[in-house]
Amino acid sequence: MTLREEQRRALLTVDLAAVTANTGVFRARTRAELMAVVKADGFGHGAVDVAHSALAGGASRLGVTSIDEALELRAAGLTAPVLSWLNPVDADWEAALRADVELAVPGAGHLARITAAARASGRCAAVHLHADVGMARDGAEPAAWEPLCAAAREAERQGVVDVVGVMGHLGCADSPEDTHNRAGRLRFLDAVSAARRQGLHPRHRHLAATAATLTDPSSHFDLCRIGAGLIGIDPSGSARLRPALTLTAPVVSVRDVPAGTPVGYGHTHTTAYRTRLALIPAGYADGVPRSVAGRAWVQVRGRRCPVVGRVSMDQTVVDVGADPVAPGEVVTLFGPGLDGEPTAADWARWAGTIEHEIVTGIGSRVGRRVALGTRPQAVPVCA
Ligand SMILES: *Cc1c(COP(=O)(O)O)cnc(C)c1O
Repeated sequence: MTLREEQRRALLTVDLAAVTANTGVFRARTRAELMAVVKADGFGHGAVDVAHSALAGGASRLGVTSIDEALELRAAGLTAPVLSWLNPVDADWEAALRADVELAVPGAGHLARITAAARASGRCAAVHLHADVGMARDGAEPAAWEPLCAAAREAERQGVVDVVGVMGHLGCADSPEDTHNRAGRLRFLDAVSAARRQGLHPRHRHLAATAATLTDPSSHFDLCRIGAGLIGIDPSGSARLRPALTLTAPVVSVRDVPAGTPVGYGHTHTTAYRTRLALIPAGYADGVPRSVAGRAWVQVRGRRCPVVGRVSMDQTVVDVGADPVAPGEVVTLFGPGLDGEPTAADWARWAGTIEHEIVTGIGSRVGRRVALGTRPQAVPVCA
């Protein structure tokens, strides 16, 4: 008998058809271009796979935080425009320029290093000036914006920079009614106006991520940056998207215990009745949050079975009750929820966090595979 892969180890299965379908939902919601945001390894789903799947579904650009992430996409043969928006001032700008990676510029210090790299390599840097529109996080503060635009215009005159875009990011878009969204959009419009007054012609104005794209067409401008939505997370709760991940693990061992048996570190759980306990080889190092103790359940043989005791670093105990569960059987920790299994959203609720943290937190020890038949046709690469 051949063992199925999910019987051998904890396994994350990625449904890439869901990514393509989710991208189609966004394609139908806006006339703006779509940037597939595949940072953090495609939100834990595989950056290259998610990129191909989103491009197949209607995205035309890619976005990541670091230059290294952008270079990984280029190394895999992806030729779509790629923007990298979060780098230290001493990042390897020349490597980015060589790989035709567009760069976000959050301030004059970054601009100076990028123009120096452009001069040194004889290339023109395609940049997106990044305005902080109200999060006090990334992007230039209002007082620094006009001088940044002026310096960028001067670099354009020298032929080392092409300001192709202006970007901003909203802090409260998952609450569409929040008045900060309107304020942020107005600050973004001011930033674009100021850039134009300085003689810049940014053709990609982009502000919206997943939530704003779904709830506020006035935020779409030329380009929407979609990350969470690609992989089935809708922070605004307004669209029906398909989660793309399923996390399973095989039962390592089972034991029948009497009532009154303490379970796990600290004996935080004691069995109330005679029952069977099943051991799962996945713990908090694999992305099973330790903070779910007492709330979480998993699916075994189609039934809900509670996680009991503390989640350890490498293992978790499940109470399977009277079911004759045996070693080697496969437990579903989370999936799309279509067969009654818990979802990443359930795990997020149990852990007091958001789905993003659950799906990006799966440990490197967990096996990964693409669900059968969901890999999009790879674009041929010329040697
Ligand atoms: C992560 C990120 C996005 C994508 O946001 P989602 O809500 O996941 O779509 C867009 N823009 C910036 C600047 C980001 O950091």
